[in-house]
Amino acid sequence: MYRLNDKIKKLEPYDPISGTYQIRLDANECPENLPEEITAELHKKLDEIALNRYPDPLAAGLVNSFAEYYDIDPEFVTAGNGSDELIFLIESAFLEKGDKMLVAAPDFSMYKFYSSICEVECKSFLKNESLDIDVDALIDTVDREDIKLVIFSNPCNPTGRGITKEQAKKLVGSVSALVVLDEAYMDFWDQSLLDEVGSYSNLIIFRTASKAVGSAALRLGFAVANPTISKAIKAVKSPYNVNSLSQAFGEVIYTHKNYLEKRQKTIVNSREMLYNGLKEISENVPDFLPYESVANFVFVKTDASAKIWEYLKSRSIVVRNMGGYLRITAGTAAETNAVLGAIKDYFAG
Ligand SMILES: *Cc1c(COP(=O)(O)O)cnc(C)c1O
Repeated sequence: MYRLNDKIKKLEPYDPISGTYQIRLDANECPENLPEEITAELHKKLDEIALNRYPDPLAAGLVNSFAEYYDIDPEFVTAGNGSDELIFLIESAFLEKGDKMLVAAPDFSMYKFYSSICEVECKSFLKNESLDIDVDALIDTVDREDIKLVIFSNPCNPTGRGITKEQAKKLVGSVSALVVLDEAYMDFWDQSLLDEVGSYSNLIIFRTASKAVGSAALRLGFAVANPTISKAIKAVKSPYNVNSLSQAFGEVIYTHKNYLEKRQKTIVNSREMLYNGLKEISENVPDFLPYESVANFVFVKTDASAKIWEYLKSRSIVVRNMGGYLRITAGTAAETNAVLGAIKDYFAG
């Protein structure tokens, strides 16, 4: 009889929140679809796709459009089927059995999840009381534990906190481990290391089209690194990892820089509105602590997280319950007002 091995036996398929809700603030997505001017361009692009042919393995059109948007060298860029694919790829290819990697805690859960499949030992570096990373302590841990790969999100999902560019540079420049900086939310902040990635031998930066670019459906992620690392990523990835439709659509979307940047500003305003509203609620509720955020969501500490989550669902609003914490995505202004109103109602009994 065939038996599943121990490392996969107890795994469960990923289970995002299902059901239909009027307001979805659980996955840090962009609150609105692309406008008609852009979708019309995408429809036209559809006709050019040769469905009988395999996609371009290097996704050249997409990569050039992405590189132009961020003003970087396209040679540094590898496209992935979402950053999710790239996390798995890099942990499995750049580490060997018995190597140690380090994640920060709390942080995006997929980093640790994939390490167990890769049979790599994953250590956790605890963040401080305010949920920030003490970079000097992190550097010490990397040295002391002989860590081969450090991966963390900046800005961080779920905390919404970030380390500055100077701090990130200090980390990358001080360790010989490979540092993977997941900048999934950096379009909402201004502390990216993207423009300096070529000067480091040990840095990979991830970007995604799923959040600020509002294209989660396309599954487009990017790894940006010096040519030596880039070449290795391209060599180990599966050849046709990004399908032709996503390549073609992504190529168009990244040409709309003005539109995307304007929309990102609107989302940042909405996040400020959300944070200020939550802060106001916290003044009357001792067990309710929102953290200031540089991303498109706000993290709140509260022992009532499960109860508030249930109550919001009963009002057809879904946020993310993280056991003692809530993570609330900044939606449209109307959605942000609705979730703030509903939380006030919850506390009013
Ligand atoms: C959402 C998210 C991603 C996922 O990116 P995809 O490109 O959609 O796979 C990666 N990293 C972090 C920290 C995220 O929050």
